[in-house]
Parts: sequence; C-alpha cells; structure tokens
Amino acid sequence: TPSLPKSASKAKGLDKLDMEMEYEKRKATKKQMLNLVVIGHVDAGKSTLMGHVLYKLGQVNQRTMHKYEQESRKQGKSSFAFAWVLDETPEERQRGVTMDVAQTQFETDTKSVTLLDAPGHKDFIPNMITGAASADVAVLVVCATRGEFETGFESGGQTREHALLVRSLGVSQLGVAVNKMDTVGWSQERFDEITRKLMQFLKQAGFKEKDVSFVPCSGLSGENLVAAATDPLLCSWYGGPSMLQVIDRFAAPQRPVDKPFRLVVSDVYKGMGSGFCVSGRIEAGSVQTGEKVLVMPTGDMALVKAIQLQDDLVTCAFAGDHVIVTLFNIEMTSAAIGHVLCYAAQPIRVASVIQARIVVFNIDMPITRGFPVVFHYQMLNETAVIRKLISQLHKSNGEVIKKRPRCLTKQSNALIELAIERPICMELYKDNRDLGRFMLRYSGHTIAAGLVTEIIS
Ligand code: GDP
Repeated sequence: TPSLPKSASKAKGLDKLDMEMEYEKRKATKKQMLNLVVIGHVDAGKSTLMGHVLYKLGQVNQRTMHKYEQESRKQGKSSFAFAWVLDETPEERQRGVTMDVAQTQFETDTKSVTLLDAPGHKDFIPNMITGAASADVAVLVVCATRGEFETGFESGGQTREHALLVRSLGVSQLGVAVNKMDTVGWSQERFDEITRKLMQFLKQAGFKEKDVSFVPCSGLSGENLVAAATDPLLCSWYGGPSMLQVIDRFAAPQRPVDKPFRLVVSDVYKGMGSGFCVSGRIEAGSVQTGEKVLVMPTGDMALVKAIQLQDDLVTCAFAGDHVIVTLFNIEMTSAAIGHVLCYAAQPIRVASVIQARIVVFNIDMPITRGFPVVFHYQMLNETAVIRKLISQLHKSNGEVIKKRPRCLTKQSNALIELAIERPICMELYKDNRDLGRFMLRYSGHTIAAGLVTEIIS
C-alpha cells in the first residue's frame, strides 16, 4: 500500500520532525509493550503456571529455584515451589497463598510483557483489581480436574466474577489456560467440555469468540507453556499454540499516538544545569524538543529543552514512553505530581464533578448518597464524595436495571455522580482509557473501579 506524502506536515516548519515517520522508525526498533493480568479461581494454579513460565524463560535463576524447591519440600508442599517465584514474603509461603500483586517482566518474540499476578482468594480481590485496571489483556486459568472446574465456575466461584470484571474494565482479549490437564490424562473430551461451557458464558459476558484462545496445559509439569506440546497423549489431538504463543499473538493495544499530547507527571526534581526535570509517562500523543508546553492545572507555559528515554537523549517521544523532560522558562513550583503536560492548543480538562460508571467490589457496607471516598487516580489520592446514584446497570450488557437506586451493594454496576475536593486533570474513558479510569477507596480498601463518562464541571 502506498504511504501518504509527508510533505504536508513538513511544510509547517523546517525544524519540525515528521512524527509519523519517527513513530514508524520507533516501532521497527522496539518491542510492543503489553500489560497482562492473570485471573481465575483460587487454586486453579495461577501462581504455579506463571512462576513456571518465568522459570522457563530464565527469569528465575537456578539457585533461587533450587532454594524454593528445598524449602517447599521441607514444609511438605513441594508442588508449591513454582508458585513461590511470585510469592514474596515468608508469611505468604507459610500460608501458601499469593497476597499482593507481584509485578514481573518477561519477553516473547514480539512483545515485552508486564505481568500483574492476580491472587484468587476472595478477600484478596481488591489487589487483583489494581492489576486488572491497568491490564491490556488477560489470561484466565481454570482447573481441568473433575469437580474443580465446576466449583470455580459455579456462582460464588471466581471464574465468572473475574472474567466479568476484566471485561467491564475494557479487556477484550483473553487466553484461557485449561490447566492441570495432567490430572485428567490429557483428555480431549474434558478439554472440549470445559471450552464449550466457558465460551458460552464468555460470549454472554461480552467477549468475542475470535478474541478468546483455549490452551490445554500443566503449570506443574510445564507442558505446553512456553514450547509446543510434547506429551504423546496431548499431541495425539492438539497441534495449537503454547501458552506463550497465545500471549505473543495478542494484538498489542493501540497507543493513542495521534491523540492530543498528555504527559502525567510522576516526579519533579532539580536536574543538572538550569531548568528542572519532570518524569512521567506519555499517555497520549507525542512531544519533541524545542516545543512549548502547558502545565495543567496551573496553566503555566514551559519550553521542552531535553527529553530522555531510558538512557538516551531523544528528540521526540510517544504515547507509552516513560520519559524525563527538562523544562526551561518556568518556575519549579508550577509542576507537581499528578499534573499534566499538554499543548496549549489542545489543553486537558480540569474536573471537579464527574459522572462515572463504576463496578462495586466485595464490600460489607452498601454505598449510599453522600458516601465519602478517596478518589485514586494515576498518582493522586483525593478526597471525594458520591453525590448521586443515578442508576444501577446490568453487569454484562450495561442496560439500566433501576433508576435512582437507594444504595449500591457488592458486585453491582452503576452510574454515579462524584464530586472531588480538588480539581484534577482528567479525560473521558472513551477518549483515553488510562486517563479516564480510577479507583475508589474507603477506609483502606478498594471498594470500586470506575470509568469517567462525563465531566460535569
Ligand atoms: P493459585 O491459587 O491459582 O495461584 O494456585 P497455585 O498455583 O497456588 O496452585 C494450587 C495447587 O494446584 C498447588 O498445590 C499446585 O501445586 C497445584 N497445581 C498447579 N498447577 C498444577 C498442574 O498443572 N497440575 C497439577 N497436578 N497440579 C497443579
């Protein structure tokens, strides 16, 4: 296909870079980044499976693995060794559960993957949420063992709950690890039964068949995780991709490079020489040196003197990049954590009252009008209050079930109006996934995840 002539954008100024071309160059040299969350019922084998994947990819050294093996054997739980790769503290090892979201990086042929591990225990669901909120794609682990798949799939089990949750947070691509296939003699019949039951449910939850891949595997033996199947029983009927191949084949999320430039400041500090530095992630658009930017919500202008990406000084950077920008012609007090750099021609909005769609987690106390919360957004934690309960929504199709509900109970979806004490820079979810979502916390617990649907004032 012929590419468009680039002369139009060049004509604007000789010193301006052709950002489209620069971005093509960039894509050709760097792997695509993918945030992956692992979900599924407790004991489905999530930690074992991902721990084994990391081990096979050489992310865990032999000595550490050997130590885990010895320790777990001593405690009579030798099969837990791989799970320990993801479990950090000794208390967690004693209890044999993964407590918090452990972040780990690994590489496939075409992707650089950040793994957000999801513990399956009921009371740990809030931790998984944090992972799910920044996930691009998900791996759902189900246990093929007779009776156990059924337990996780029943109401009350977490298989359905987790799948619904990631879908409502915008995840559309799913890899399903049909795990512990060793316990059913690699039975194709069992695999087909699970695939059929799950797919029926996943379709109702809003997943498309073409975006879901089922993989028979064993997190414990490592079969079909990172290399093609070798077990004769499995090979006799399966010739599809391994778990890692499924992850590699996920379509990388489209970084919003053509949208207006937004950089969310995560740190501000004095650099070498004059000016000062802000570090942060470019959430949308692109930026180049020599340009003037607006710092919001303060509204002060600054000159971009230098851009640092990883260890290199670059002339331009794009959505998805973590960068350090040196700013000139501005007071250091104009920028702070949570502030946003943008262009004056396309400034980001500042909001104090918003309408949002929320997913309520497992909470004890129902949410009512006037409920005080902490609005957790990007780097910020702001005092806020739920001003109106507009409607309760159906979990999978989003239709209004009830107008003006008196309260919201656990696991419900709803449309609400929220007032934030201090105005902050924000975007609608439909315009920018990352700048349009937030978490609500109450007395130290995450009680809901939300998407900004409207900025009221
Ligand atoms: P999680 O709660 O989903 O993270 O599950 P774990 O990874 O902690 O695994 C739960 C239990 O299932 C442990 O005893 C594991 O050794 C066992 N397990 C995990 N994967 C497999 C597998 O593929 N085959 C068999 N037979 N057992 C497994």
